[in-house]
Amino acid sequence: MKIAFIGLGNMGGGMAANLAKAGHTVRAFDLSEEALGKAKEAGCETFSTASEACAGVEAVVSMLPNGQIVKSVYQSDVIGHAPGDAVLIDCSTIDVATARDVIAAAEEAGHDMVDSPVSGGIAAAEGGTLTFMVGGSETAFKRAEAVLADMGKAVIHAGDAGNGQAAKICNNMLLAVQMIGTAEAFKMAEKLGLDPQTFYDISSVSSGQCWSMTSYCPVPGVGPQSPADNDYKGGFATALMLKDLKLAMDAAATAHISPRIGALAKELYEAFDGSGNGSRDFSAIITEYD
Ligand code: NAD
Repeated sequence: MKIAFIGLGNMGGGMAANLAKAGHTVRAFDLSEEALGKAKEAGCETFSTASEACAGVEAVVSMLPNGQIVKSVYQSDVIGHAPGDAVLIDCSTIDVATARDVIAAAEEAGHDMVDSPVSGGIAAAEGGTLTFMVGGSETAFKRAEAVLADMGKAVIHAGDAGNGQAAKICNNMLLAVQMIGTAEAFKMAEKLGLDPQTFYDISSVSSGQCWSMTSYCPVPGVGPQSPADNDYKGGFATALMLKDLKLAMDAAATAHISPRIGALAKELYEAFDGSGNGSRDFSAIITEYD
């Protein structure tokens, strides 16, 4: 397939490389020369504008920083430049309302389009093991699935346009809450005199068990290998978790629900990010309880 790929950063770089590896012709664009250079090395063709990259393609994939950029790239460089029958796939994490607006504009111009944010970080993007949560019509989903399957291990239809973003932010709000709860439980157990490994052995087979504990334990040396074992480097940056929590709170306001624990998690990550921890893995929040 001939595919345009826009946004070749930490995530998009690996994703575009996987599409090229799977045999697709990838027409890549990014504002950064360095990112373009890496994409070329990975077997992509590179272009100096997004609209040139979109010429003659069957699909467009984007992986961009935020909703404003996604809206402007689709308005100015994709719609009207990619062929009308090209399927459009935005994998960025953005707000639900913007995702729905961009998809409505694309559909008006005759395109099938989905929002398709991902679960999994840079390693999963490079390894082709992302999970895609896809919002859009059944037809658009089926067409997008054929492209997304070459970049991930699971492609799940979440429902109508914007529902991929809704699934992503609800999941990440739960993850933030769960991580803070896990951190507090381990620190409290320790201060009450329990050895962290002993608490893990008990709680990981009891009702407190959760992903943040048994797959991503914030305590160094406990549970499987995680960023805690690497001084909280790599993994999922606090700044990105905060971005998702802000999107979650915005979405909550539009849906007229007040998730109180989610709001508190956002406040705690805001404070942690604000004290210079934005680039540390989000599990480092446990160090606030030292
Ligand atoms: P990044 O900053 O590394 O990459 C974004 C890229 O977009 C950059 O290379 C930048 O030059 C490019 N860009 C910006 N404006 C552009 C424009 N107008 N046209 C073309 N290119 C443009 O960010 P990332 O970590 O790759 O994240 C991308 C998206 O994936 C974000 O929405 C993020 O929330 C989401 N995400 C990231 C992770 C992660 O672990 N990094 C995990 C899940 C989801």
